[in-house]
Amino acid sequence: MSGDGDASGASVRRLADWDAEDLRALAAEFGTPLYVDDLARVRQNYARLAGAFPDAEVLFAVKANAGRHVLRTLAAAGAGAECASAGELARALDAGFDPADVHYTAVNPPAEDLDYACRIAAEHPALTVTAGARDTVERLAERGFAGRFCLRVHPGVGAGHSESVSTGKDAKFGVPAADATAVLADAAERGFDVVGLHAHAGSGITNDQIEEHEAVVSTLADVARETDLALEFVDVGGGFGVPYREDEDALDLERVAARTRAALDGVDATLTVEPGRYLVADAGVLLTEVNTVKRVGDTTIAGADAGMTTLVRPAMYGSYHPIRSLVAEERATENVSVVGPVCESTDVLGEDRDLPAPERGDLLAVGNAGAYGVEMASQYNSRPRPAVVALDGDDAEVVRRRETLADVTLAEDTASDPYP
Ligand SMILES: *Cc1c(COP(=O)(O)O)cnc(C)c1O
Repeated sequence: MSGDGDASGASVRRLADWDAEDLRALAAEFGTPLYVDDLARVRQNYARLAGAFPDAEVLFAVKANAGRHVLRTLAAAGAGAECASAGELARALDAGFDPADVHYTAVNPPAEDLDYACRIAAEHPALTVTAGARDTVERLAERGFAGRFCLRVHPGVGAGHSESVSTGKDAKFGVPAADATAVLADAAERGFDVVGLHAHAGSGITNDQIEEHEAVVSTLADVARETDLALEFVDVGGGFGVPYREDEDALDLERVAARTRAALDGVDATLTVEPGRYLVADAGVLLTEVNTVKRVGDTTIAGADAGMTTLVRPAMYGSYHPIRSLVAEERATENVSVVGPVCESTDVLGEDRDLPAPERGDLLAVGNAGAYGVEMASQYNSRPRPAVVALDGDDAEVVRRRETLADVTLAEDTASDPYP
């Protein structure tokens, strides 16, 4: 199902490109709701991204999909890992990433996360820790940190598909660019090995937002030129967008790469990029079965077994995900809203879609589900999380079993003082 033989593949893989018969077979074998991750496509995406940034270090932003199958695939392909928590750090190291290619990005880190990261950094001096606040610098120093240190800068510019994910605009992340050289000097004085600068403008940079991306990189470049410290790398973050809509073009990666290099002109440091979504989004689909059909006025409501607890992006960000009916027979189309089983009116996967008239038992596929899909799944409504199947060529393997009701109560059942 991986499509063409070219190592880096087509720049876009649409939901329509997946083989319907193969997907029906997977749903029949493993049940629904089911996430399907195609590892061959993950490798293609990595090869294409690495090809566009030949001199850069590429770190996978683990939060997009921390599945062991994905982490192992990307570690083997040569990627590094960007980890946003102690848990992600543990999973990245366990999956085989070389600590020299692992960055831990501390965002208002809980004490346990910092304790853990400092312990790992002492054990593996090649690990890099990124901080985005003076407080974090102090808290690292309190823990005796003396490892590789990178400063996250808040560039004051944001790109992205929704306000809520435009982290560059959000002062929660990074120190203001104007304070950056002072904080870098302070970190060096405390004995940290200052190696890099970082900024992540936001998620979902599209072709119209390349200027904003360039502005973020320019801000970083200014700081890099200003500091007296010799920097090993400048990390411009991730946020490379993928086309969620069927009529949207692929991101012009060559242009992004060229503008990034241009903005870093004269800066003597390696470029680092941290794509999450770009590497995994179109490698994944979510399969869900229709269990209820209602025709209300001009709209048909298709109630499915996946909803906001399976894939929260539509409910949380108003994100668009393509939806396709996998029924084999020809049917007239209708205006359909696909909704889930959760008692919330925001529990919607897609509205106002032109789909073959749905019937109970139909299988639907939701596209671009490989990033921020299963990773953001929850047990709200006491709903067990879905299974994940990894495809690799002709192999299909369950890499995360479907949760059961016992998983939903596990932490209660194993509490030290369980409620009777
Ligand atoms: C989320 C995040 C990324 C990845 O963002 P994508 O849009 O998935 O590429 C990279 N770096 C940092 C610091 C992040 O928080």
